[in-house]
Amino acid sequence: MTDFDVVVIGAGLAGLTAARAVRAAGRDVVVLEARDRVAGRNLGGLLADGTPVEMGGQWIGRTQTEVLKLVDELGLETFPTYDDGAAVTLHNGVLTRYADESFGLSVEGATEVGRLQQELEALAGTVSLSSPWTSPAAAELDRQSIGEWLRSHTDDAEALAFWGAIVPALFSAEPSEMSLLHFLFYIKSGGMLDNLAATTGGAQELRVVGGAHRISERLAEELGDAVRLDSPVRKISHGDDGVRVDFEGGQVTARRVVVAIPPALAGRLVYEPALPAARDGLTQQMPMGSVIKVQVAYPTPFWRDAGLSGFGFSLDDGLGVTMDNSPPDGACGVLVGFFEGAHARTAARLSPQERRASAVATLVKLFGPEAGNPVEYAEQNWMEEEYTRGCYGGRLGAGVWTQYGAALAEPVGRIHWAGAETSDVWNGYMDGAVRSGHRAAAEALDRLEA
Ligand SMILES: Cc1cc2nc3c(=O)[nH]c(=O)nc-3n(C[C@H](O)[C@H](O)[C@H](O)COP(=O)(O)OP(=O)(O)OC[C@H]3O[C@@H](n4cnc5c(N)ncnc54)[C@H](O)[C@@H]3O)c2cc1C
Repeated sequence: MTDFDVVVIGAGLAGLTAARAVRAAGRDVVVLEARDRVAGRNLGGLLADGTPVEMGGQWIGRTQTEVLKLVDELGLETFPTYDDGAAVTLHNGVLTRYADESFGLSVEGATEVGRLQQELEALAGTVSLSSPWTSPAAAELDRQSIGEWLRSHTDDAEALAFWGAIVPALFSAEPSEMSLLHFLFYIKSGGMLDNLAATTGGAQELRVVGGAHRISERLAEELGDAVRLDSPVRKISHGDDGVRVDFEGGQVTARRVVVAIPPALAGRLVYEPALPAARDGLTQQMPMGSVIKVQVAYPTPFWRDAGLSGFGFSLDDGLGVTMDNSPPDGACGVLVGFFEGAHARTAARLSPQERRASAVATLVKLFGPEAGNPVEYAEQNWMEEEYTRGCYGGRLGAGVWTQYGAALAEPVGRIHWAGAETSDVWNGYMDGAVRSGHRAAAEALDRLEA
């Protein structure tokens, strides 16, 4: 006799969605969460005046239908990300203002970027989302990094600088750090590059009123005392009779376990018996990205008066991408910015004062002197987080998809794997996390009697 039908590890979107589905099927579920809060990578924050600012995941696109459905079911609302006016790009000290799709590049640079994008998307079209390792040219695509592919397909310095900045903006990792196959899988999973990069009409179109963490909080409210905070899991024992999960503070038994934590962290749990080599090999090679997210507040969204949207793209600075993150009524101005990939690791070595100065200096270059006088600055270094250890998510380097990819979501006996990294649609996003929760719960429920 076990305590529960299913035990879920991790109260992020994936784990909470899985638990909700198990509960909806009339089964007993418990969720063990290491932190003293739910929402995982969707950490909510507040400015001193009470304005919500998202310190982790925040935007939702209209094709992210599963998370949108959940938002609706939970009685939450979305509002459009501010996206009126021109964007700015800084490259080699030159600031370009633009209101088209050019990213402020020269005609030659934009043409070359477009040519490479077309080639990459044609290759992405050949990739299987459900099993990338079976794609027709999988071995060839997985042998090289996206960085190597780019260098062997162009010598245009501006195009290379663009890709050198846009890849970390999407992955929080450098082009040298992930395989071409992974890059192609990921862009196809999110509906290709324009969809990933765009605000209106793309992945950054909407925000959740109050912050994206409210989705998880509402799910946790529904689940009530089935969610146990401050319960870091250390060990999973599994066998024919069921599973036993040891966490700091106790242990529970269940018939199935859904592990809804990033693969890199799942690999740090103790399993008895040990996991198959293929699964362990995968988690040894799926590092998290590197990102420091900053929110910089001003009395007003002053850039709007200059006809600017707040979207800034610097190819010269550590803070690579900025966007308008003001509250819906524009009562104050907030610019959100990101140090990503190698820039995040460099910025992490600065003192907090130096990092703030670096971020604000970039905002001054992008939006003028008024950006030099913020009323508040908040930052979140995701690499420091014990129960995340980097963001936005896990990535696969050269050779990993083809050698180990099959172990990413394949259950091991009574252990099922969820999390944004395991989704074939919107992989790495909140929508992917929700989809993975549904999938893992369905697997566990299907096999409950087994
Ligand atoms: C800065 C940043 C910006 C992002 N921007 C966006 C965005 O705009 N749009 C978007 O869709 N996505 C975005 N993402 C990604 C998005 O947040 C994630 O894809 C999604 O939230 C992952 O959900 P998850 O449930 O799979 O994992 P997580 O949110 O990581 O949840 C895992 C949970 O497991 C817990 N845990 C870990 N180890 C243990 C343990 N040993 N025992 C018990 N519990 C444990 C963690 O505390 C956590 O609560 C962003 C992420 C970051 C960090």
